[in-house]
Amino acid sequence: MADTKGKQRILVIGAHPDDCEIKAGGSAVQWAAAGHAVCFVSATNGGTGHHEIGGIELVRRRLDEAKRAAEIAGIEYRIMDVTNGEMEPTLFYRKVFIKLIREYRPDLILTHRPNDYHPDHRYTSQLVQDSAYVVQVPNNVPTVPALRYNPVIAYLSDNFKKPILFQPDVVVGIDAVLEKKVDMLHAHVSQFYEWLPFAAHQENEVPAGDAERRAWMREKRIKADAACAEQYRSKLIELYGPEKGRTFKYAEAFEVCEYGSPLTPEKQKALFPFVGA
Ligand SMILES: [Zn+2]
Repeated sequence: MADTKGKQRILVIGAHPDDCEIKAGGSAVQWAAAGHAVCFVSATNGGTGHHEIGGIELVRRRLDEAKRAAEIAGIEYRIMDVTNGEMEPTLFYRKVFIKLIREYRPDLILTHRPNDYHPDHRYTSQLVQDSAYVVQVPNNVPTVPALRYNPVIAYLSDNFKKPILFQPDVVVGIDAVLEKKVDMLHAHVSQFYEWLPFAAHQENEVPAGDAERRAWMREKRIKADAACAEQYRSKLIELYGPEKGRTFKYAEAFEVCEYGSPLTPEKQKALFPFVGA
């Protein structure tokens, strides 16, 4: 839990190495800059998401890339030893998640929504939901001391429409840290310049030079953050006031999960100190 100096602990659990950066990289940079502790977790190791390499070679590359991204933001990064595509919402993995959450003692957990295109995203979300509340029950996973509180849990944004649209409770303007977020994505070479372009039949469009390909990727990736700011403009204005709320071009958004602790106005102020400032 937050220490006496108000330092918050934020645990972002994505399914793959790059998910946390894509959805919460700009917020993570702001938390870290304000002295809060942030840990990105990839619930799977990225060991299958490539067209040319796989296995230990790919897993080690993904780990190196994640560590580089973490360095840029000043955060911690962990990758779980689960082959990607193989995460399952089982009792075994629920216990793994409970242990992870208890040991990190987060004030806030961010993860995917439970209805998402990728089974790893869905099951990662399910496992976080299944760990909520139970993290406080000492007889579950009795070898790791139970928490005396239920963390706040919030979902990372997405555009899936069924069964229900994402409805943000907090929208974070990220204009001031956008380039740092892009730098974090740029660290994931095997994703943004190899696998994802291949999967999108764009592998011949990737520029050769480092600066050129960063600019190429930046152009593509910032569209989602720009759309987020536009889509949730009224929330930005509500949280930051009309003057500031209207100026943000880029944003990240989070929706509170009902199974964690409620996000009271006091908690929101503590957990998102840069929102509304
Ligand atoms: Zn993913």
